[in-house]
Amino acid sequence: MEEVGTGLLDRLDAMQRVAASAPGGPLLIVAGPGTGKTRTLTHRIAYLCAELNVFPEQCLAITFTRRAAEELRHRLDGLLGPVAEDVTVGTFHSLGLTILRENAPAAGLPGDFRIADDADRAAARAEAGEDDDRYATLLRKRDLVDLDELLTLPVALLRGDKKLVREYRERWKWIFVDEYQDVDAVQYELLRLLSPPDGNLCAIGDPDQAIYSFRGADVGYFLRFSQDFTDARLVRLNRNYRSSAPILAAAVQAIAPSSLVRGRRLDPARLDPEAPLVGRYAATSVADEADFLVRTIDDLVGGLSHRSLDSGRIDGRTTSLSFSDIAVLYRTDSQAAPLVDALARANIPVQKRSHDRLRDRPGVTAIARELRHAGLDGSLTARVRLAGQILAERFAVPTLDGSGAVRPEDVRTAVDLLTPLARRCGDDLGQFLAQLATGAEVDALDPRAEAVTLLTLHAAKGLEFPVVFLVGAEDGLLPLRWPGQEPDDDAVAEERRLFFVGLTRAQDRLYVSHAARRTRHGSERECRPSPFLEVIDPGLFERFGDTEPRRPKDRQLRLI
Ligand code: ATP
Ligand code: MG
Repeated sequence: MEEVGTGLLDRLDAMQRVAASAPGGPLLIVAGPGTGKTRTLTHRIAYLCAELNVFPEQCLAITFTRRAAEELRHRLDGLLGPVAEDVTVGTFHSLGLTILRENAPAAGLPGDFRIADDADRAAARAEAGEDDDRYATLLRKRDLVDLDELLTLPVALLRGDKKLVREYRERWKWIFVDEYQDVDAVQYELLRLLSPPDGNLCAIGDPDQAIYSFRGADVGYFLRFSQDFTDARLVRLNRNYRSSAPILAAAVQAIAPSSLVRGRRLDPARLDPEAPLVGRYAATSVADEADFLVRTIDDLVGGLSHRSLDSGRIDGRTTSLSFSDIAVLYRTDSQAAPLVDALARANIPVQKRSHDRLRDRPGVTAIARELRHAGLDGSLTARVRLAGQILAERFAVPTLDGSGAVRPEDVRTAVDLLTPLARRCGDDLGQFLAQLATGAEVDALDPRAEAVTLLTLHAAKGLEFPVVFLVGAEDGLLPLRWPGQEPDDDAVAEERRLFFVGLTRAQDRLYVSHAARRTRHGSERECRPSPFLEVIDPGLFERFGDTEPRRPKDRQLRLI
């Protein structure tokens, strides 16, 4: 645990300190990527608790993804120690689930309602057809709740119950929302119900990283924060601590044509004159692009571990890179397969977020049930293992008609699949079950896994990696285009923001690649590089091509 008290804010710069120690009331922190928004948020919570006698249980911190929530929880643990457990940290969906669980009867639900899985949904859809009302009734009859309803039901409940609103406002006096630029109408309404107009709502975000409008998010809520909340204080953070100067310069130029932030500034805190330029690779084909990836990763990881020359000096520190320092980002999930194949053939370990949900796997439900009812002891990972053993033994005896039993091998696989989630949840069984219910994915990413991480650009939001490969930087993928369809200006602007999010995930090394030919929608076509690359000063790139990789001798770095 770090030192709490006056020293707490020492690790922040002057503006971050202003934000972290601002008095109560609505607070909007507007800041670009890597400026320490998340760091400021965790320090603000720690500061309020340590200095202003705010109780951790009065704090509610909301983020958009499970991974971001875990990261927040982890950083708070480091700052606050064990009392950090009393802070409510979660995604909007897990917040909705908490409210529904606490008020199931009032929401018209049984205490043991379940979240509908794909099979439940498909069955209800097949019966209800297009009739959305009927669909909801069917789910309700089966004691099921749809994922969207984790938000709409609490909103409906709170709208009709002023006393309940007062109770929650009393409980969570301090609310913090990271990535506020991506709230949608229902999430916004939930926040308005939970926070009075003059409440201690701290919203943090970057309009230039708004990338979810296709899903109903509306950056307008961010832009009108000071109209919605009384006497809102505004703090801007301008210093980027994450990325090397060339990476930051390229990113700032890339977003410029559609920046939503007037007078946007992003000053590099890192000014290492040795920082490598942004690598750019013009691949002849998708296979060639994958090859480049393999060669470069081999060089970075293998090379650095046994070569002393160019041993990855970062800001004067000598570092060696491992696979877990590297992320490969792409626009669409379909780009991943050839990359995964190529990396696997080269024996490079990879982890990729798959969209299969854990709870849909055979064996998982049985283990979850066993954990809930059997009262097992020990750490959560040990309990998962034990539940698996008990079940495997139970199911090893075949039932006469073969029904109702899970195969022992399914149970063993389920134990392997559940262990990383159990590890991430510490010993919190409630959190573990809630994450299963809200759809934790198979191989949800483990930040400690010794593997290269493959992610879509959307999923990479809020994360950072020493080395980032942004692949498929081609017209048609960035911006994304469907056959026979031209994206309108708003869509292109959102794609550009997505590109900006991708570039700004990189700390030390960034590689952008594009292929000259790619198969999409069933036919192979010629591709041009993404138009988003055109606005970046060519002097910021080190080009790799059909020639051997080389470093230009005299580089004129144009810093912003
Ligand atoms: P994003 O918009 O991508 O979510 P962010 O603004 O939330 O970015 P953080 O993830 O909080 O940025 O911080 C980026 C990196 O900079 C982190 O590694 C963080 O530890 C580091 N950092 C932030 N502030 C400081 C500081 N004052 N001194 C040193 N490092 C800092
Ligand atoms: Mg952040």
